[in-house]
Amino acid sequence: MNPLIDAHNRRINYLRISITDRCNLRCQYCMPKEGVSSFGQAEVLKYEEIYRLAVLTAEKGISKIRITGGEPLVRKDAVQLIRQLSRIPAIEDLSMTTNGILLEEFAPALYQAGLHRLNISMDSLNPEKYRSITRGGDLARVWAGIEAARRANFFPIKINVVAMAGFNEGEILDFARLTLQDSFQIRFIEFMPIGASSQWKPEDCIPAEEIKRRIQTFRPLIPVDKGRNGYEGPARLFKFPAAAGEIGFISPISDHFCNSCNRLRLTADGKLKTCLFSDEETDLKPLLRGGCSDEELEKKLDETISSKPLRQGALGGVMKRCQRPMVKIGG
Ligand code: SAM
Repeated sequence: MNPLIDAHNRRINYLRISITDRCNLRCQYCMPKEGVSSFGQAEVLKYEEIYRLAVLTAEKGISKIRITGGEPLVRKDAVQLIRQLSRIPAIEDLSMTTNGILLEEFAPALYQAGLHRLNISMDSLNPEKYRSITRGGDLARVWAGIEAARRANFFPIKINVVAMAGFNEGEILDFARLTLQDSFQIRFIEFMPIGASSQWKPEDCIPAEEIKRRIQTFRPLIPVDKGRNGYEGPARLFKFPAAAGEIGFISPISDHFCNSCNRLRLTADGKLKTCLFSDEETDLKPLLRGGCSDEELEKKLDETISSKPLRQGALGGVMKRCQRPMVKIGG
């Protein structure tokens, strides 16, 4: 089968699969205040359909899969899907992004099913602030989930922190200090304009360079060389001298990484998205449910990849945002 290479010669080897748009949190920046109506059960891809796409895309060069949501762990039998995906030989890297609320319960089973890497979203270390940004979340449960993941041997455990001016900027150093003793990778992510009703304003985004500058007022940061000029995926990695963990910066706004974008996203309702900031989507469900052959599916994948934009949206000063809220994309 032909590899997935777009019109700009970018090889697509990373598929992010959202398995549900339901979430057990209501993060203010991810979901509008009034909530979003969830897809009906029939709209959401079945695990067999997801698996079929994973196998086909793996034959076309996908070697990394990330499971996301909504909150992936609220979907029934997520462990079973992980077990199937982990057995696809070409998939070298299987990971999940989760808010951690249900991890205490699921970490051992997920690990046994073949998931060994986790990104856990935690935007505040302060229980009240966490409750406020997530509209009701319990930070103690996230910590219990992180501990359970450690006990189950997950490594590395990456903690995603969306840096938002006026919300958690006072905690940047507290997050960074966690890496002194713990092997976490704390990743500061620039706040992005996603979702038509998001309240995002340019001044809400703290540029990665500014976060780094503030951290360096505490201690110097040494680049971590992961063999790609300090980048690991889109993250630029550093650490404090002799620290156990690492600090990453992900800068989709101030220093976009479109030129090296290797990603494809599959939404829970079966739409392929080639760019987070674009509204272009390819609906695979009619094909999947219409008894299509693998050849027809492959043709659709190739067409979709060939139209992957070079760059989009919030980049280059144009503050366009895609209409789907993040909870219905998966990050
Ligand atoms: N429920 C899971 C979780 O909380 O990690 C997975 C889905 S969530 C949509 C995936 C990631 O997207 C989270 O780390 C979240 O913080 C991030 N995210 C959501 N909206 C964002 C935005 N506007 N800018 C940057 N990151 C965002």
